[in-house]
Amino acid sequence: MKTAKIRKVFIEPLNVPLDEPFTIAIGTKYSIENALVTVVLDNGIEGYGEAAPLEPINGENQETVLATLKSCVGFLEGKEITDYRAISATLRGVFQAQVTARCAIEMALLDAYTKMIDIPLYQFFGGAGNKAETDYTIDIVPPETAKANAAKLAKAGYTILKTKVGKRLTDDIDRLLAIREGAPTCGLTIDANQGYSPCEAVHFIEEMGKNNIRPILFEQPVSRYDLQGMRFVKDHTSIPIGADESVFTSADAINVVRTGCADYINIKLMKSGIIEAMDIAAIARSANIKLMIGCMLESKLALGCSVHFAAGMGCFSHIDLDPHIEPDLEPFTGGPVYNAPFWTLPPDLPGLGCKKR
Ligand SMILES: [Mg+2]
Repeated sequence: MKTAKIRKVFIEPLNVPLDEPFTIAIGTKYSIENALVTVVLDNGIEGYGEAAPLEPINGENQETVLATLKSCVGFLEGKEITDYRAISATLRGVFQAQVTARCAIEMALLDAYTKMIDIPLYQFFGGAGNKAETDYTIDIVPPETAKANAAKLAKAGYTILKTKVGKRLTDDIDRLLAIREGAPTCGLTIDANQGYSPCEAVHFIEEMGKNNIRPILFEQPVSRYDLQGMRFVKDHTSIPIGADESVFTSADAINVVRTGCADYINIKLMKSGIIEAMDIAAIARSANIKLMIGCMLESKLALGCSVHFAAGMGCFSHIDLDPHIEPDLEPFTGGPVYNAPFWTLPPDLPGLGCKKR
């Protein structure tokens, strides 16, 4: 039988400057301030995991994540790597709110485990495929910039463009029109990041309709807690509605199913951890709710983990895993290969396939 114990666990900050400041309805980020977990097994195999906290989303930041991770080291050292599920369950019970820290640990454990059994991570998730096509997000920028960016992205091969809305209605409509003008053949998805009240969201949909704008997906129109409000929006449009911030846990996913408030659930490993993400996917599929996968501000390591998850599970209708770091600044090499708009996972690299630079 193949097993190994965790001999050592190392925790360190993972800082990378961003290409461009990244603005959503609830704040702006200038650099990635994440954390890295390295587990070393007693057979010498190393597993890596990344935590990507974003305060307004999950209430964590780099300092809280580093502190949480450091407090887990003693618990992890000496454990069998094959016990990754039990380890994850214990950590979930103790650090319920520190989900990105837990996700980093799960990632490092699964990276080490799949390296030990010598399979790429996507095969662990089911091996449905080793490719994923992502959309690309156009930031909240003036219409001329949005139009130019859209044209450039369409030329680069992207077929779906996403943009953030929910700040100012007229600006949002102008930007959507500009994107459509720049990339007339691309599908359009919009994300309000909880920016609207239910009535405002329906009004926004009506205004889009007057301009013949029909997104293929409208993500998180209202507050994460207002599932009835999201249901109101869904009942007043045929545009598919997505639940993102509303779903962190499998219990949240069940509430979405019960209220019938969404057509899509957006899974992000940094919201649920990896193990619970598998449960959320199962709930959504059982309830005939479509799945999308998204990311926070992540290096190639964590982003690559989501690519493994999406490609291996094979049940994602929409993939929002666009990289935001200059390839030269990536702290990891190897792993998934990005040839816009496709991610490809090399079948001969075990685990996440990433090496520290
Ligand atoms: Mg979103």
